[in-house]
Amino acid sequence: METKEILSALNVDAVNPGGYARGWLTVTGGPELASLNPASGEVIAKVRQADAAAYERVTATAQQAFLTWRMVPAPKRGEMVRELGNELRANKEALGALVSLEMGKILSEGLGEVQEMIDMCDFAVGLSRQLYGLTIASERPRHRMYEQWHPIGPVGVITAFNFPVAVWAWNAALAAVCGDTVIWKPSSETPLTALAVQHICNRVMAKFGCDGAFNLVIGSGREVGQRLVDDKRVPLISFTGSCAQGRKVSESVAARFGHSILELGGNNAIVVMDDANLDLALRGILFAAVGTAGQRCTTLRRLIVQKGAYERLVGRLVKGYRSVPIGDPLKPGTLMGPLVNEAAVQDMMAALEKVREQGGEILTGGKKISGPGNFVEPTIVKAHEGLAIAEDETFAPILYIYEIETLEEALAIHNAVPQGLSSAIFTTNLLSAERFLSHEGSDCGIANVNIGTSGAEIGGAFGGEKETGGGREAGSDAWKAYMRRQTCTINWSQDLPLAQGVKFDVS
Ligand code: NAD
Repeated sequence: METKEILSALNVDAVNPGGYARGWLTVTGGPELASLNPASGEVIAKVRQADAAAYERVTATAQQAFLTWRMVPAPKRGEMVRELGNELRANKEALGALVSLEMGKILSEGLGEVQEMIDMCDFAVGLSRQLYGLTIASERPRHRMYEQWHPIGPVGVITAFNFPVAVWAWNAALAAVCGDTVIWKPSSETPLTALAVQHICNRVMAKFGCDGAFNLVIGSGREVGQRLVDDKRVPLISFTGSCAQGRKVSESVAARFGHSILELGGNNAIVVMDDANLDLALRGILFAAVGTAGQRCTTLRRLIVQKGAYERLVGRLVKGYRSVPIGDPLKPGTLMGPLVNEAAVQDMMAALEKVREQGGEILTGGKKISGPGNFVEPTIVKAHEGLAIAEDETFAPILYIYEIETLEEALAIHNAVPQGLSSAIFTTNLLSAERFLSHEGSDCGIANVNIGTSGAEIGGAFGGEKETGGGREAGSDAWKAYMRRQTCTINWSQDLPLAQGVKFDVS
């Protein structure tokens, strides 16, 4: 699809309003924000950002709409989410292309991101009939004890640039069936995809008469994001972004006794043992390390290879890196697009400078590709234990490789970073695989065997430990974070026995 065609199919071709709350806020007073194509540096379209008054209107609307939405039976809420999934199916091609155009990931990944939204809607529809609570045996005669789950309130969803729409869907589809309304603050790098999704939501909300269930507010993290984080009317903030920002967000939300779901940075590793199927490992490593130009939270950043496989694997990997087709993400055949902006290119070059200072060796890549756009060479660094820069998450395609002799050594390096998101081992030895998955193995929220670190399915709970923040989103029982739990005890006897045998009889 041509740029013009994509924009007009999704209604984001003019200067767009940056706030939606029961109608687009056309006069918001906030400054304009230009969305740039990272492959060319050109302006795609502009957005007018929300100012304080627009924020207020959006949040008040979400709060008001919550009072009605929470009373709609959950399976009916699920019907609305099913329609959202249908609308996304109908718009998959254009929205996937817009994700690629604005964020820079290749088209197949842009389409995959929209598919992930559709999958999340399907999952949430089923969930809308399964918001189960437990019945618990009471120690008191003729008493019944059970847990139930209530909607929690408007949920603030702050998203990162690299999954501009899928992460919203992880949150929004669950929140909607749980009876919450959503206030979305997207990344300022990707406002158009957010607007396009809001247009889709508007049609669905109009059809179901539930305007105010999904709301949007575009603006900088420092102003609009912080306002949302500090807002007592918003009991839950789901934040996806860097560890540095996530730390501040979590402190602010905790200071007002709000709940937060934190999905922060990763520093993911794969261990390759001598007995691994190296063909499989090579493919898994290339997708995990080079896919999305190294801009996934689950991107492979550290490769830990046992001595007997090291030369064979690294030789093939270097060759693979040099033949990756880099270029326009919308062009068929491209496997690596640009970094999101110039600052990301500078961050990568600064990290490589530190690699040199700290004694790492660049085996391939290491440069910005000249010409328009934020294109860089995917880079492999021969690392050593104690290479400090490898402990940071540089959001770019840099892969640090370590050579080890034993699984113990591999695990020590593996777990020695502050983040704990995704991990994997390639091995055909059952004992090594089980050890990697055991209590003394990987310390990450995601641990795989003979699969790379990225490309998770939505059915599992997604998230990580340590400085990744501990949040869980998407599948399994992640929905519980979007509701409040209530434990209820009903006495249907004619007596009032107290728990733990306590006596308190006033005669
Ligand atoms: P970022 O931290 O710069 O920004 C994330 C979001 O936070 C943006 O919407 C931004 O505007 C907002 N923000 C910034 N300051 C804020 C503040 N004070 N209050 C409220 N909001 C504020 O991250 P990014 O560069 O957009 O994304 C890349 C990072 O996100 C990486 O670290 C990556 O690992 C992480 N990420 C994590 C996951 C996960 O699920 N764990 C998924 C995607 C991305």
